[in-house]
Amino acid sequence: TTGLADSDPELHGSIVEELGRQRHEIELIASENIVSRAVLEAQGSVLTNKYAEGYPGKRYYGGCEFVDVAEALAIDRAKRLFDCKFANVQPHSGAQANQAVFMALLQPGDTILGMSLAAGGHLTHGAPVNQSGKWFKAVPYGVTADTHLIDYDELRRLALEHKPRLIIAGGSAYPRVIDFARFRAIADEVGAYLMVDMAHFAGLVAGGAHPSPLPHAHVVTTTTHKTLRGPRGGMVLSNDEELGKKINSAVFPGLQGGPLMHVIAAKAVAFGEALRPDFQAYARSVVANAQILAETLVGRGLAIVSGGTDTHLMLVDLRPKRLTGRDAEKSLGRARITCNKNGIPFDPEKPMVTSGVRLGTPAGTTRGFGPAEWQQIGNLIGDVLDGLAASNSTDNDAAEARAREEVDALCRRFPLYPTFG
Ligand code: PLP
Repeated sequence: TTGLADSDPELHGSIVEELGRQRHEIELIASENIVSRAVLEAQGSVLTNKYAEGYPGKRYYGGCEFVDVAEALAIDRAKRLFDCKFANVQPHSGAQANQAVFMALLQPGDTILGMSLAAGGHLTHGAPVNQSGKWFKAVPYGVTADTHLIDYDELRRLALEHKPRLIIAGGSAYPRVIDFARFRAIADEVGAYLMVDMAHFAGLVAGGAHPSPLPHAHVVTTTTHKTLRGPRGGMVLSNDEELGKKINSAVFPGLQGGPLMHVIAAKAVAFGEALRPDFQAYARSVVANAQILAETLVGRGLAIVSGGTDTHLMLVDLRPKRLTGRDAEKSLGRARITCNKNGIPFDPEKPMVTSGVRLGTPAGTTRGFGPAEWQQIGNLIGDVLDGLAASNSTDNDAAEARAREEVDALCRRFPLYPTFG
């Protein structure tokens, strides 16, 4: 009955340190967010004790009457949030949501067409190192060299040539709205299924700040922890209830055992939050703030892949300052601005070096940063990177220390989880 601090001080220490890190850093990792106390409470609940293989009302275990309520709420809210007919909220992660779709729709050896990792796609869309690239014949499509937008003509040409069974739209570092109708037309032309992986922009769709893929895709997958601001996890959505039955069988018993009922409860809480009007304001702010950050960085002499962003994220091309993503990530990190190095389209550098960093506004916007703060953050990034360029990427201590002070003041003005110890 003792608390964690007493029962396991060593582990508790890591949580305290992590809370401190989150409090005192500016989080710009595009795939991260800051969940509410209610989400944390649901996820840290006794529901973790429960086995509930199956689906609400059809379980392989007794005693499921209350977790059934939680899962039914999550399903119902997901369907309302995304205005669709089917939702499976059990995938443990985004990767497993994608795997479940593959299991439902594909046979090993089938051809899939997904965005290449180099152009901003995700590992699970057919990267050679991933199961999706090993068990399927994965054909990658990319972006054009001049616009950095998806090369829809090449996409169609590849689809006609390779006749994929599944076409995947969506990615982890693509900053622009995707033309879902065009994807669907190409899929229909070759008799393929269209899956949209909206993991990154799901919260923007939920908040009405981004077009929905649901009217166009056969099936939509997502994570629940990025812009959607829920617990870490995955979900599969569709308007085709027959397809939904296959997805359910693919998630369980096809792929997973017992669902994580505490996480599903936390998903229900997050979806409930996203159904409220203030989430719409949040989603709009995330996009507006990303545009302010991008414009500020352009003003500081950096280039933005595709010239800007329609979403929560941007890819900064560091080549105008002759910097690499690796060095920029480290230097910004020392200034307590957290981001990740990221390849840019046609990147001449190796994947562990890269010419870019990926930045996103979901976490900072949740924290409360508005237009003025995003301008300030853009200028802080500019200051650190100018210092790094001036030092030939060697010693940037002075610029980092100056930025760190401003970051600290900013973080204090917008306290994170202020009521926590
Ligand atoms: N799909 C996309 C587009 C993603 O960006 C990610 C995560 O980065 C995933 C799937 C995988 O999600 P998870 O890390 O929960 O497995």
